[in-house]
Amino acid sequence: MRHYTACEHCDYLLNAPILNHNECAYCPRCGHRVSHRPKYSLQFTLSFSLASVFLFILSNTFPFLTISVQGQHNAMLLWQASFEFWHYDHKLLAALVFFVIFFLPLTLLVGLIYILAPMIFWRQLSPGTCWIARHIFKLKSWSMVDVYLVAVLASLTKLTAIASIDFGIGLWGYISFSICLSAALANLDRRRFWRYLEKVRCHQRLKQQKQPI
Ligand SMILES: [Zn+2]
Repeated sequence: MRHYTACEHCDYLLNAPILNHNECAYCPRCGHRVSHRPKYSLQFTLSFSLASVFLFILSNTFPFLTISVQGQHNAMLLWQASFEFWHYDHKLLAALVFFVIFFLPLTLLVGLIYILAPMIFWRQLSPGTCWIARHIFKLKSWSMVDVYLVAVLASLTKLTAIASIDFGIGLWGYISFSICLSAALANLDRRRFWRYLEKVRCHQRLKQQKQPI
């Protein structure tokens, strides 16, 4: 059985075969990787998503950094960043930081766990799985925690010149969170997901047919 799919870069219509584990399909026109199938990719996505939730809680519970200037110590938590911008009347920046740091990663993580956990553990589809999955694939490219992390690290190197800075557990938690979230999204292959969903749907139908009336 062969499936048609369009290349995301050049819109070339491919008649790609079903891939085996660790195989990749490339566009013959532009060479862009259209699909790949690492072993247990969706299971990896779920595992990294669960780890990301734990690390996200950790990075928001413990101090992100402590700034010491002239004997005064000021500890800051991650979630306080957007509130500080709001407090100093940078409302647009505060909304942007809130969206990038909290809303988008959390929405992606909750959505991924909600749809993948029942599929993998119980071979069942949660209500609204298709709708949520479509939005996750759209939002996926907007997750920029790694960009934000680089921006934070660049700012910290400048701050060390004017104040003494101690890195807290929150910062290390956020670095680990960024790595885990990036790994979760990197393992999430669109074609692999829809095929797996079809398998689970067939399994659900067979189960319903076998049930005594
Ligand atoms: Zn192409």
